Amino acid sequence: MKVINNPNKSPLASVERDQRVSEPGFGKYYTDNMVIAQWSEVDGWQDAELKAYGPLTLDPATMVFHYGQEVFEGMKAYSQPDGGISLFRPEANAKRFAKSAARIALPEMPVDFFVKTVEELVKQEKGWVPKKIGESLYLRPFLIATEVGLGVRPSNHATYVLIATPAAAYFNAAKAVTVWISTEYVRAALGGTGEAKCGGNYAASLLAQKQAAQEGCDQVAYIDAKERKWVEEMGGMNLYFIKGSGKDATIMTPKLTGTLLPGITRDSILTLAKDLGYKTEESMISIDQWRDGVKSGEITEIFACGTAAVISAVGAAKSAQGTWQTGDGKPGVITNEIRAALLAIQHGTAPDKHGWNKRVI
Ligand SMILES: *Cc1c(COP(=O)(O)O)cnc(C)c1O
Repeated sequence: MKVINNPNKSPLASVERDQRVSEPGFGKYYTDNMVIAQWSEVDGWQDAELKAYGPLTLDPATMVFHYGQEVFEGMKAYSQPDGGISLFRPEANAKRFAKSAARIALPEMPVDFFVKTVEELVKQEKGWVPKKIGESLYLRPFLIATEVGLGVRPSNHATYVLIATPAAAYFNAAKAVTVWISTEYVRAALGGTGEAKCGGNYAASLLAQKQAAQEGCDQVAYIDAKERKWVEEMGGMNLYFIKGSGKDATIMTPKLTGTLLPGITRDSILTLAKDLGYKTEESMISIDQWRDGVKSGEITEIFACGTAAVISAVGAAKSAQGTWQTGDGKPGVITNEIRAALLAIQHGTAPDKHGWNKRVI
């Protein structure tokens, strides 16, 4: 399968584009082009087409509108010191995309084909990649069920779409986020779709998000569905807990029990923290251990991680039981160190020992 290049014949004037790239926000502006590929049960995957960004026209009876069969990815292209552009671990996104699709009975897109579509769009949109550290071109590949019909069964037609949006640095070094630990709503149960990056998981999480906002919190942290006490993740980011300080610190993250989304940032940090000389641990932490740990000072820092925000410090947690601050409530030194180390690799200013960067240009 290849990508047929049929780019937008009237892209945005470069002056205007540069203006947008200099103040990108997040998801505010979309680039001139997108990539679309079709799959059908009969013919399999067809060649993709890179073409002008624009609306999709779909029959109202298209299956995705009714039964929510959709999966997506989130990944970034980073500008490099020599003017080139790199993707960060795109094969990992490709593999997860295929796994997510399989879980909700959508077709698995071959890894090479997926990566090719991303590379082609980034090459085409190189003028849209911001240059400052922390900034990037955010790529959003997604796959939807596009058979027309209301019968409940796996769609025999699927459409892959890839769009891109320039992204500012999400992180506010001075500000840590506050999380609402939801004891009422659950994100995922064993045997469900918690491991798949599907829109349905997000739909199920929005009410808890609304509740968090009403409680004055920025994000939601979810606990397990069965015992209702083990901390899982934030619904869009994985969590890390730091015990101790200095080089004796242990960097701990909840283990992948089958209900957590296996984040690529989470995985990269496990490796990176070891490189930086820290002990790492994948285990379990209960809400009580979280509360007692920050109160006793055993837990010194907490952060959330994911492609979009990279790393956000968690300054305080609030639940039905009360509010607990982490340390002094500000982003901690190890959180900042890990964030800087990861960004340095992504932006090509530190050696890429693990071969994570894939040069596009
Ligand atoms: C995407 C996502 C993450 C973070 O994954 P990354 O690969 O690090 O971006 C964490 N949790 C959920 C539910 C997600 O959808």
